[in-house]
Amino acid sequence: MTGAQLPVIVVGCGVAGLATALAAAPRPVLLIGRQTVGQDCASALAQGGIAAAMGHGDSPAEHARDTLAAGAGHNRPDAVRYLVDHAVVAVRWLQTLGVEFDRDGDKLALGREGGHHLHRILHAGGDASGAALLAALHRAALRAAHIQWQPPCDVDALLLRDQCVAGVRVRDRDGRENALECSEAVLATGGIGALFAATTNPAGADGSGLALAMAAGAPALDLEFMQFHPTALAVAGNGALPLITEALRGAGAVLCDDDGARIMAGRHPLADLAPRDLVARQVWQVLQAGGRAWLDATAVTGDWQRRFPTVDAICRRHGIDPRTQRIPVTPAAHFHMGGIAVDFDGRTAIRGLHAVGETACNGVHGANRLASNSLLEGIVYGRRLGRLLADVRLSACRSGSHRLVERGQSATDSALAELRALSWRALGPVRDGATMRQALAHIHHDAALHSSWQGKLVTRMLEAALLRRRSLGAHYRQDAEKRQSVQSVPLRSLQG
Ligand SMILES: Cc1cc2nc3c(=O)[nH]c(=O)nc-3n(C[C@H](O)[C@H](O)[C@H](O)COP(=O)(O)OP(=O)(O)OC[C@H]3O[C@@H](n4cnc5c(N)ncnc54)[C@H](O)[C@@H]3O)c2cc1C
Repeated sequence: MTGAQLPVIVVGCGVAGLATALAAAPRPVLLIGRQTVGQDCASALAQGGIAAAMGHGDSPAEHARDTLAAGAGHNRPDAVRYLVDHAVVAVRWLQTLGVEFDRDGDKLALGREGGHHLHRILHAGGDASGAALLAALHRAALRAAHIQWQPPCDVDALLLRDQCVAGVRVRDRDGRENALECSEAVLATGGIGALFAATTNPAGADGSGLALAMAAGAPALDLEFMQFHPTALAVAGNGALPLITEALRGAGAVLCDDDGARIMAGRHPLADLAPRDLVARQVWQVLQAGGRAWLDATAVTGDWQRRFPTVDAICRRHGIDPRTQRIPVTPAAHFHMGGIAVDFDGRTAIRGLHAVGETACNGVHGANRLASNSLLEGIVYGRRLGRLLADVRLSACRSGSHRLVERGQSATDSALAELRALSWRALGPVRDGATMRQALAHIHHDAALHSSWQGKLVTRMLEAALLRRRSLGAHYRQDAEKRQSVQSVPLRSLQG
């Protein structure tokens, strides 16, 4: 195959991967996912919606203000500006692909979520927004002549030639390996929530793209910043905890303790709609004190079937009628603000390797993501990267010897379960140096943990969290206040 014919390989079929692939036309694209579209990606689970300043009195500047406030000012301002300035265009583009956003009469219906001062969240199919967006992108990608689909497989190594990405190695469900050449590769592999015991993320959100990029020598950024959603359904089990959307609080639901006292009363001017990190910590503290936390949505009126079909079905599956009964909730790992360090155009430090969506970190979310900004990020930055790939012939190095950079050995099921419990304990909503150091030592002395790529990833997160000695955004150190002298660390720490 000549260089001109080699495809761009996009790893990941969530919103970010699909938006990138679509925008890369007419370049040939090979799309690779571990499962069929929608099976194992966070995009399909998104309930809240997509943020865009389309309401009366709203503007991109207002949206940017809320994004920066949630991100604790750790955001890259030009990345935020680009995101909010392109939000309305992204919504219009999704409409052209057939997404039918919910309406209020003849206008688009706009909801509100934590950290937003105005109503600016669009939904599609009520709280099934992510699935609606993904279905439209999927249909468009199936129609697109420039996109080819690889049968479901795991990308477990990168092929490098002259320090430049020239392909990937895939492993199918039967364990068969195959090397696929490409002109450029894009990692759109999602987040890392599945490395925590309590998480809303699907099992596939295990940070494997991040591990691959780091194994190849690409720097990561802001690994310590993990967002915890305050209201996952508190049920026993090993996998993803069902999410109880924040939009319910936007519609009037409130958090309370066993006695019915409001958990967020007097804690923040936005009360139950305060930024997520703050709400998650308050809920965590109620649980740590031995109580339970509840979301009381009994005051939410209107058509539940239309507005909250997903939450309604989840609750009923667990024997709860949310219209009349309180919902037990717990915080859970939800969104990774950190990731593979990329520039504004999604370039990593390795030639020919790009990253986009939750696996990437271009600084747009800062230390804490504003609700409903991540579907938007995947679409806006995916389209930007796709257009770049369409226009520029970066072309991989096609001569000389090559080497395989492998992600490494996978943790056994029992080692993974131990690692997830350890991450939750040491890297959860409330952190302290002693617990994190103990966790590091534990991984270091346990061969089953530290030899796995998941163990290495958790190690890097612990190191980053220890390095950042002050609390910032979603990274909360309860030992920070106790220290006499606080060593300052650079605002944006680069972990190589
Ligand atoms: C329950 C829940 C609710 C949410 N609600 C909202 C919301 O309302 N609004 C909002 O903006 N955000 C929301 N989010 C966050 C948002 O859904 C994600 O940040 C976003 O969808 C990530 O998109 P992505 O394309 O980067 O990754 P994903 O959608 O997770 O897709 C990752 C893809 O990578 C593939 N993959 C991973 N590793 C490999 C590998 N090694 N080889 C091959 N393929 C691989 C997977 O198969 C998958 O196709 C929510 C998240 C969750 C979990």
